[in-house]
Amino acid sequence: MLTNSLHELDRQHLIHPVSSFRGHEARGVRVLRSAKGATLTDDTGRELLDGFAGLWCVNAGYGHESIVEAAAEQMRRLPYATGYFDLGSEPPIRLAAALAERAPGDLNHVYFTLGGSDAVDSTIRFVRYYWHARGQADRDQFISVEQGYHGSTTMGAGLTALPGFHDGFGVPYAWQHKISSHYLYRNPLGDDPQAVIAASVAELRAKVDEIGADRVAAFYVEPIQGSGGVLVPPPGWLKAMRDLCAELGILFIADEVITGFGRTGPIFACADEGIVPDLLTCAKGLTSGYVPMGAVLMSDHVYQVIAEGAGARAIGHGFTYSAHPVSAAVALEVLALYEGGIFENGIRAGKRLMAGLETLRDHPLVGDVRGRGMLAALELVTDKAKKTPLPADMQPATRLFDRAWEQGLVIRSFAQGIFGYAPPLCCTEAEIDEIVARTRRVLDLTLD
Ligand code: PMP
Repeated sequence: MLTNSLHELDRQHLIHPVSSFRGHEARGVRVLRSAKGATLTDDTGRELLDGFAGLWCVNAGYGHESIVEAAAEQMRRLPYATGYFDLGSEPPIRLAAALAERAPGDLNHVYFTLGGSDAVDSTIRFVRYYWHARGQADRDQFISVEQGYHGSTTMGAGLTALPGFHDGFGVPYAWQHKISSHYLYRNPLGDDPQAVIAASVAELRAKVDEIGADRVAAFYVEPIQGSGGVLVPPPGWLKAMRDLCAELGILFIADEVITGFGRTGPIFACADEGIVPDLLTCAKGLTSGYVPMGAVLMSDHVYQVIAEGAGARAIGHGFTYSAHPVSAAVALEVLALYEGGIFENGIRAGKRLMAGLETLRDHPLVGDVRGRGMLAALELVTDKAKKTPLPADMQPATRLFDRAWEQGLVIRSFAQGIFGYAPPLCCTEAEIDEIVARTRRVLDLTLD
């Protein structure tokens, strides 16, 4: 009874991100009631394995009492302190220092936000301020990568290059430009990594020439494109792009909202590639999804230019909930759990996940298996040699998602017939094996 009325209330009143305004009425909402480790329980009491850590965020897993305690203790002591007017509180100060210590290179300055989109938006404003301060205010053009996702706020959505995030919104995005994705599986250049790297370098160089070398402010990139379908660049691609940005004198911004906090192994995926971005954005795993929080990590040189440019003036950029003490207290506890064994477990589990998914390569529907660590995808096709995508009626993301749900598995399915995986890093070997086994069942059912 309660369930029915909840479903009714949802239909009448709650606007869901992305999925509302379409088909939602027909499907109805699935209500989750509780969770522990990597297991979710829905409102019918059914248990499901979360192969997606919520929305690529619950890296530590569900149900950690110590996180709950950290939040409760901070709420009792001091639930809120603004960072404005040179005020502050202990947790965000300690968290900023902890992140600076662990981040690659000289990313020593941290600006806290509420999530990933406003972290990206903040970088756009910081980058603009940086170029103003350097007397190059004409640098107001931004470049990102096709299939990239950088958030849903107006500016972040401008950098995002996924269908649906621009269509129908009519926002003028004249300041943003795209280069082709490094997407290997369906790359018109074939799957030779060196050819793809050379082509991307040439394309970024040509794009900067076309826009005007003195007009480009920054290049944005995810170390692995997440929402675009878990697109892993060839080894060396990210470094080549980073080096080119340095040569061209434009800022390089790594969006690690998904790849941060052990998702691919290290705390930040840039470390895998041996690169130091000028700015780095993160969120999701920062608090493991228990409370909202994001961050911008800024290198010494960018910070200094902005600070000198500002002089004694205030910089008009801030959020009421920047550096929220409860979120920061949660993030500090999450970090302690990660370093107390969850990162290590994630590395082991990631190897098992990739090996397990590789065993599905022999399935008639599996065209590609890709990923790194606990971030992976399968791409489904009906003809492996021709890489023929699933027919349109088999593709809708909801259909594959529903089929997995029926098998007790939560994954993300992308519109192109891609299964995405980002399980909590705390998964046991048995849970990883179960994710793979349930996937095989979903594939078999899709084949029938
Ligand atoms: N950047 C990337 C790479 C993301 O994957 C996301 C979210 N999926 C965002 C930015 C936006 O983060 P949020 O949803 O927390 O605003």
